[in-house]
Amino acid sequence: ERARLNRLRHMPAVTLDGQAIDLLANIELPTDAAAAVDAGAVGVGLFRSEFLFMNRAPDDMPGEDEQYEAYRDAVLGMKGLPVTIRTVDIGADKPIERMSVSELRHEHVLNPALGLRAIRWSLAEPAMFRQQLRAILRASAHGKVRLLIPMVAHLSEIRQTFESIARAKQQLADAGRPFVDVEVGAMIEIPAAALMLKRFLQFFDFISIGTNDLIQYTLAIDRADEHVSHLYDPWHPAVLRLVADSIAMANAAGKHVSVCGEMAGDVAFTELLLAMGLRSLSMHPAQIASVKHRVLRADTRRLKAGLEAVLSADDPMTAAQDAFRRVEAGA
Ligand code: PEP
Ligand code: MG
Repeated sequence: ERARLNRLRHMPAVTLDGQAIDLLANIELPTDAAAAVDAGAVGVGLFRSEFLFMNRAPDDMPGEDEQYEAYRDAVLGMKGLPVTIRTVDIGADKPIERMSVSELRHEHVLNPALGLRAIRWSLAEPAMFRQQLRAILRASAHGKVRLLIPMVAHLSEIRQTFESIARAKQQLADAGRPFVDVEVGAMIEIPAAALMLKRFLQFFDFISIGTNDLIQYTLAIDRADEHVSHLYDPWHPAVLRLVADSIAMANAAGKHVSVCGEMAGDVAFTELLLAMGLRSLSMHPAQIASVKHRVLRADTRRLKAGLEAVLSADDPMTAAQDAFRRVEAGA
């Protein structure tokens, strides 16, 4: 089985009915690019840049040049394949020593997942945000870079983000630094963003659905709290409905859509996500081979026929097993 999965590595992920599926890697550090290429990833769908900032002393945060080198190394490591770099998502489950120049860490924050994290933190620290944007833009001179914004929920955040990007570009242009116009995408991981997607899509080139946080915020279950982990349910019909609708809306708008939460790398969801119209999944490199194995045996035309039954079921997990096993068996 291991040897067979190994042979799959550099085979393109195409379904039985000829649909090409992009299987991308989630990485945390530039050195992970080697594992991503090795696993046969066709790019990086999520570079969690906050890992450059974690486990570092407060007076030792990476500056623009150090960040630029890290992003550039990831781009070079991917050998011409696209790299989607997410701006920092620090806070909540990913704390850093110095949350902000205002020394937020000394405050007792009761609900960090609902607090100052991700794009909220970046917009509260505009100089650091522009520093990161400049570093990412500079890396775009070395290969295909895409910029991904985490946790957007408000139109005002989108506007401020694009203002910061414009300013960062201007600063680079003034300094004579090379960069190219990168595509800008949004993480869809707050229910408000999924519900506002039609409007939000007018601003962004692509979206990436972060199911880990989307589940947490849809079900009001802290993803890091073991007391309620039995209620953290990726199969909850409300979660599946938001994911399905987001994929359908992005496809209808002609915007590229990917899923980069744990759901993308879990083979229990592969057929369902394909049935929803998803053609791009980003996951831990170690999960790519087994997801590809499922993709190669899938027929999206037939999977689509089972979708509504799964979405309207009280128990979608069992319904998915029934619906998709039946089409597999050729019934
Ligand atoms: C997500 O929320 O699904 C996601 C991919 O981002 P993270 O797990 O880093 O919050
Ligand atoms: Mg997230």
